[in-house]
Amino acid sequence: MNYVVFDLEWNQSNTGVSSRVEGLPFEIIEIGAIKVNADGTLDAEFNELIRPQVYREMHRITGKIVHLTMEELKHSRTFPEVATRFEMWCGTAPFLYCTWGTLDVMELQRNRKYYDMMPLTEKPMPYLDVQKLFALTYDANEPRKRRALQDAVDYLQIEKHVPFHRAFSDAYYTAKVLQEIMQVNPKVLSKVSYDVYYPPTSRETEVKHQFDTYFKYISRTFPGKHELLNDKEVSSSKCYLCNRNLKKRVRWYTTNNRNYVCLAYCEVHGFLKGKIRVNKTAEGEVFAVKTTRLVDEETAMEVEKKWEKLQASKNKDEDSVIPETPENMDLQE
Ligand SMILES: [Zn+2]
Repeated sequence: MNYVVFDLEWNQSNTGVSSRVEGLPFEIIEIGAIKVNADGTLDAEFNELIRPQVYREMHRITGKIVHLTMEELKHSRTFPEVATRFEMWCGTAPFLYCTWGTLDVMELQRNRKYYDMMPLTEKPMPYLDVQKLFALTYDANEPRKRRALQDAVDYLQIEKHVPFHRAFSDAYYTAKVLQEIMQVNPKVLSKVSYDVYYPPTSRETEVKHQFDTYFKYISRTFPGKHELLNDKEVSSSKCYLCNRNLKKRVRWYTTNNRNYVCLAYCEVHGFLKGKIRVNKTAEGEVFAVKTTRLVDEETAMEVEKKWEKLQASKNKDEDSVIPETPENMDLQE
């Protein structure tokens, strides 16, 4: 697999959230990218400034961090032009986008949509979050740690010869970090992330991805939460190792109306914990991101205990947070 490591700089309204333009809270003002071949060598470079069309003043903090002035952007191409050139530069051969963190793919999609450009894909976009891969590789005891790019560069003692916080230099440093990871921990490259700016709209575009220790499912969109949680596939608890539908020990429950948890048991493989995060689209529809993973008995007991506690609080206070659990959710399938 080849990689396109990219980074964006964006600007926003300088006069507060209330003067944000609908559909474009952040306007991309620079795209920087570098190609990394499957063998880890750095290849072609892309580096372009963008002439803003929406926010004509530089946000005071953005300007300071990015070291850019409106004057410098004035003679650049517009976003649709630069985004098209970037797309052409990426080419048609298969590749995977790589970014530092989780925001850039989404922001690229949103800016394209604002200008009525075609989505990069009309379904979840797989990409590598190098910030996540870094933590999985070098902060194994804190795998959810989110280091700043500069911190990671220092950690790996990568030579710093260009300033941070410009799109190309950040893409370059991200590529250097990726290069290191490819050397020391190549198997972590299988841990793709999915950007869900465009969630699945049909069964065909749903995501079903078996990772080494868990299974991820991104459902198509539904008109509302009730329909979503009543869907058989969304609510099922399947053992991802033997593919059997399991009877639940603890039905789906929630303590915050957004994240749901369930517990099932496979006679061959043991306890399975399911998690659903309910996501809302800009149009008000909902879709589920579900993960199921085998867990040890201790974790299983924690799930059970939380559920019991929730049940107990229900008896005391009828208005307490109790899931609107659909009838079918604890049926054996
Ligand atoms: Zn099983």
